[in-house]
Amino acid sequence: MSSKPHFSIEFFPPATPEGVEKLRGVRDQLAALKPEFFSVTYGAGGSTRDRTLQVVREIREAGLDAAPHLSCIGATQASIREHLAEFREIGVKRIVALRGDLPSGMADPGEFRYANELVEFIRKDSGDEFFLEVAAYPEVHPQARSYEADLTAFVRKVQAGANSAITQYFYNADAYFHFVDAARKAGVTIPILPGIMPIASYSKLARFSESCGAEIPQWMRRKFEGFGDDAESVRAFGLDVVTAMCERLITGGAPGLHFYSLNQTGLTTELCRRLGLV
Ligand code: FAD
Repeated sequence: MSSKPHFSIEFFPPATPEGVEKLRGVRDQLAALKPEFFSVTYGAGGSTRDRTLQVVREIREAGLDAAPHLSCIGATQASIREHLAEFREIGVKRIVALRGDLPSGMADPGEFRYANELVEFIRKDSGDEFFLEVAAYPEVHPQARSYEADLTAFVRKVQAGANSAITQYFYNADAYFHFVDAARKAGVTIPILPGIMPIASYSKLARFSESCGAEIPQWMRRKFEGFGDDAESVRAFGLDVVTAMCERLITGGAPGLHFYSLNQTGLTTELCRRLGLV
């Protein structure tokens, strides 16, 4: 690998005081890898509003760059303005702008229907103050009518003013390359960073992948299933396949990587080490 690609690391806001304390240690260890920024997820409908902001605030206080995720489903223009004011106050420069999913039991979608409307609103409200990341789906968003419709929706977010994109995780590098090619043909020039999910537990990954539309290739499934409860083999094989995929992505032109850390240090650190990012 000639030049070092950028990389960033994602956290979720812990639900317990113990989790919050643990994340401080995780953050400090991962900060030593010098990621470009840490992003912090946001529970759609505002369920983690305060917790997300607190984690972001502490990242900023530690002198690091933080990118809060912000979803617009269920939100109003006024509530988004409040978020932007809070972000401004703690020196946030980058936001991951999302639609999110309407939580069960919440009926009112609010004043925004899709992420492109959030991007448009932030641009109208705050000009170029924030660097806006949006989500991309190389294997197609599960609710999309078709591959083409999803690509059009992505292009709309870029036209509304997104600066960069982070993909849903995948384990098939060809899906990423195909998506980037299609986006380039549609006139998209912004960086599209692959989202990388390290594999800690196959059963959890399989469950989660069902809901978010990420495919675990059959050959990987069969191999993981063969390991049964042997967590060490799952970890070793997971690291090997994810490292190999990241190497292919970078060699093939991916501008960087975004690691879904799941608030753990081990796998992300090891991947960065193997990839020569640190
Ligand atoms: P959109 O881009 O609005 O797309 C949503 C769906 O609507 C797609 O199927 C799209 O094809 C379709 N669509 C878009 N525009 C139109 C239109 N005009 N007409 C018809 N259909 C349209 N979720 C969270 O709750 N919190 C998080 O912090 C979070 N972080 C994420 C980070 C990344 C990098 C990624 C990839 C996903 C994240 N998600 C998060 C999940 C995300 O919120 C869900 O996938 C959600 O369902 C879609 O959000 P979006 O911003 O991609 O939506």
